[in-house]
Amino acid sequence: MTGGLSAETSALAGALRALPSVDGVLKCAPAAIGLDRHGREPFTAAVRAALEAARAAIRAGMAGPADAEAIAAAALSRLEAEAQPSLRPVFNLTGTVLHTNLGRAILAEEAVEAALIAMRQPVALEYDVASGARGERDDHVRALLCELTGAEDATVVNNNAAAVLLVLNTLAQGKDSIVSRGELIEIGGAFRMPDIMARAGTRLVEVGTTNRTHPKDYTGAIGPQTGLVVKVHTSNYRIEGFTKEVPPRELADIAHAQGVPLFNDLGSGTLCDLARYGLKHEPTVREAVAEGADIVTFSGDKLLGGPQTGFIVGRRDLIAAINRNPMKRALRVDKIRLAALDATLRLYRDPDRLAARLPTLRLLSRRAEAIAAVAERIAPAVETALGVRVSPCPCRSQIGSGALPTETLDSYGLRLTPDGGGRALEALATALRALPVPVIGRREDGALVLDLRCLEDEAGFLATLAAFAGLEEGARHGLA
Ligand SMILES: *Cc1c(COP(=O)(O)O)cnc(C)c1O
Repeated sequence: MTGGLSAETSALAGALRALPSVDGVLKCAPAAIGLDRHGREPFTAAVRAALEAARAAIRAGMAGPADAEAIAAAALSRLEAEAQPSLRPVFNLTGTVLHTNLGRAILAEEAVEAALIAMRQPVALEYDVASGARGERDDHVRALLCELTGAEDATVVNNNAAAVLLVLNTLAQGKDSIVSRGELIEIGGAFRMPDIMARAGTRLVEVGTTNRTHPKDYTGAIGPQTGLVVKVHTSNYRIEGFTKEVPPRELADIAHAQGVPLFNDLGSGTLCDLARYGLKHEPTVREAVAEGADIVTFSGDKLLGGPQTGFIVGRRDLIAAINRNPMKRALRVDKIRLAALDATLRLYRDPDRLAARLPTLRLLSRRAEAIAAVAERIAPAVETALGVRVSPCPCRSQIGSGALPTETLDSYGLRLTPDGGGRALEALATALRALPVPVIGRREDGALVLDLRCLEDEAGFLATLAAFAGLEEGARHGLA
């Protein structure tokens, strides 16, 4: 039989035969690292996979024989790649501070520490330590939320979408919810007010027009079948020009005259006057409560700068009804977030130091001159590391997450302009995302702009860029 084989085929068979056994690989010196770092079962499986890949490569004529050491190394690098956590840290240089796809608010150190404790130890989550009796999880934040908003009572759920759903379902199921046509919002991730209303079991009654809604539109629609009058913050758009909306206080009077509660979904909501920190004033939760809304909902991880949560604050009897809704149990928050939330809310008691401690506010209130100084300082090192033209440039940041959608903030960034037009730009963006800590910027007229508003760890950033030259040729040219 051997006589029928060509020289090529026999070389191939030889290379296949020369491959080590699984046991042979496991016994070689470099395998010890893999066994130690990843454990026997995963490493053995990776060795099998590496051997299979080597066999396939030999059969395809793409590779020659491989020894035990080479197979062990291949298995190890396969496992190291898989060991990367899926939820990876990134440098958010997009210019959008509260970027929903990048996890919105980053937490204050105080919140991180509180969350760690709640993760490591048993905590009195629903337990009244003084009496030894059962407690409520809302007890941990209720008093503080009431203090900060002026509301009678408060509760917390998974996010603001959950808060809106729960409010509508509790207070308007089987009844009408009246909303202006100018406020029928869709926010990201398929959250559309009409759909949420349908799921909550309430009938949407639209009043007014897209640009103008008058008091008489509401008065004409309210009747015995009305459960709620709803006001929705038009988070991600503005209607400008010939417009009219009914101010919250007047709307509260209209609703109350007919014995109907007013529900105000503030969206982002804020607990402090942003004007104090050099930003444009956004209605605070306290203002919404004072203007007569019976229920106000808002997010924990937008302007508030805490973990993902949704708040419902307002009239005691209505909050009690919300707490009796069986859906509340399905939408509640866990101890880790509750701990982080409590710590975040406490920071609001000291407005003087809030901007220094709360990352969201610190980043939003960062002055363009300070950011420009960073740009000037690091531009030369960035240019050296990336090998492309880098120039400091003014740019505009956004708050994000539907807070003050038409407001932008003066900022500063680095303008990266590789030779070779669109393809080169795409390749550069891809390569920056391939770094150990991916760097995410934004494309802007023929350049890649890295807005430095959210860059606080300059040294870490430059250390990450140092890996750029080491990226494989393919990754650097966007082919990986
Ligand atoms: C963002 C937003 C929501 C949803 O809040 P999440 O915390 O993202 O669930 C609801 N209503 C309005 C008006 C919003 O802006």
